[in-house]
Amino acid sequence: MDVTIIGGGIAGLALAHELAPDHAVTVLESSPGPRGGGFMIDFFGPGFLAAERMGIIEELRSRGHAFDGVRYGTPDGKESGRIDVGPLVAAAGGRYFSILRPEVELGLLAVLPQSVELRCSARVTAVRDPALEDAGASGRAAVDLADGNTLETDLIVACDGVRSVARELVAPGHGPIVPMGYRVASYLYDDPELAAELGERMLMTDTVGRVGWAYAADDSRVGVMLAERVRAAGTKRPTPDRERLQREFAGLHPQVDRALVHAPESFYDDLVAQAIAPRWSRGRIVLAGDAAHAPSLLAGQGTSVAIAGAEALARSLRATGPYVQAGLAEYERRWRPTAEKVQRSGRRSAAFFTPSSPAQLRGQQIARRVVGLPGVSRLVTRSFIAP
Ligand SMILES: Cc1cc2nc3c(=O)[nH]c(=O)nc-3n(C[C@H](O)[C@H](O)[C@H](O)COP(=O)(O)OP(=O)(O)OC[C@H]3O[C@@H](n4cnc5c(N)ncnc54)[C@H](O)[C@@H]3O)c2cc1C
Repeated sequence: MDVTIIGGGIAGLALAHELAPDHAVTVLESSPGPRGGGFMIDFFGPGFLAAERMGIIEELRSRGHAFDGVRYGTPDGKESGRIDVGPLVAAAGGRYFSILRPEVELGLLAVLPQSVELRCSARVTAVRDPALEDAGASGRAAVDLADGNTLETDLIVACDGVRSVARELVAPGHGPIVPMGYRVASYLYDDPELAAELGERMLMTDTVGRVGWAYAADDSRVGVMLAERVRAAGTKRPTPDRERLQREFAGLHPQVDRALVHAPESFYDDLVAQAIAPRWSRGRIVLAGDAAHAPSLLAGQGTSVAIAGAEALARSLRATGPYVQAGLAEYERRWRPTAEKVQRSGRRSAAFFTPSSPAQLRGQQIARRVVGLPGVSRLVTRSFIAP
């Protein structure tokens, strides 16, 4: 059948890889090429296992990075604690590495079968399935593009991220994102000197209300992530503003201050949010990845579950062959429990992501020390890694 995937991000490319042997796949991606927005993610859990089954894990691992762990720093530049990544890697049986999000995308592009038609600068504005409006209607499903064209297809898979254009139609009342009370900015820039200073440990600031991360993405580039608490009510995507960023995050740590001087004009800046959809498909339209079940970056597994969810959808469609509706039901039955579990873990982390008071900061510092104790460390890492 003809499958049209909206969004050539992580879920979209992973799904195209899996569907290509059996179907005519078109991917519509709004950006002109791979998105450069770079932040380092931890790759483990269900997505790792799915990438193994897909035969792409070595491609991804070759683009990954192994950090020693995290170093906490206070505004005066002193180190206030450390967490090693070793126990996490061991608890995951070695199935764990860090990787820049854009490298995941580039890795998936490198293994994309040639039969997949990838159209960049193709922004979808609406999706339609005539059968949803009139049960007797026989027309095919269709996507409308910003350039005025319409594409007809047998199945539409919305992999267009947390702000999906299709979610409202599939799960009425659930189109908007569910903000979690944080806003995060991130960027990458060239700074071999700071990259060498940061070395193999990520820096995370031990601060209240606002937290900064700085890490060496490679020998020459530094990655920065800046998180702040915001009112949870608004859902509009914020406009990146370099001066505001430099002003609001000044003084967290001397190395973050140095990195702030190099903040680019354009950078990733968005609310931390989940997508909640009580159903993932309707007629011939189905949601996958963040569009269906964004856990937010607080869960630390968005990329992993985006890949695993896409693979679960492809497997279900493969298993049910021409019975597409049965395949979509099977996808939800098979995959929803894991996706919801990761979302719950994201919600639980929300209160702790950025300490809201000096007392909470102090509590986290004590908890870090307890977690460092051998027996506790094993327990905590196992519960973190469990899918
Ligand atoms: C700062 C930050 C840190 C994170 N850290 C981690 C982490 O440590 N571990 C982890 O696993 N995950 C992490 N994540 C989450 C992870 O990046 C996402 O959950 C994951 O990328 C989801 O993939 P996706 O393909 O579903 O959506 P996306 O990656 O958002 O891709 C959606 C694609 O659809 C395209 N698109 C959107 N709208 C349209 C349209 N109308 N028409 C056509 N194309 C469209 C977009 O351009 C994009 O390419 C983090 C996220 C952020 C923001």
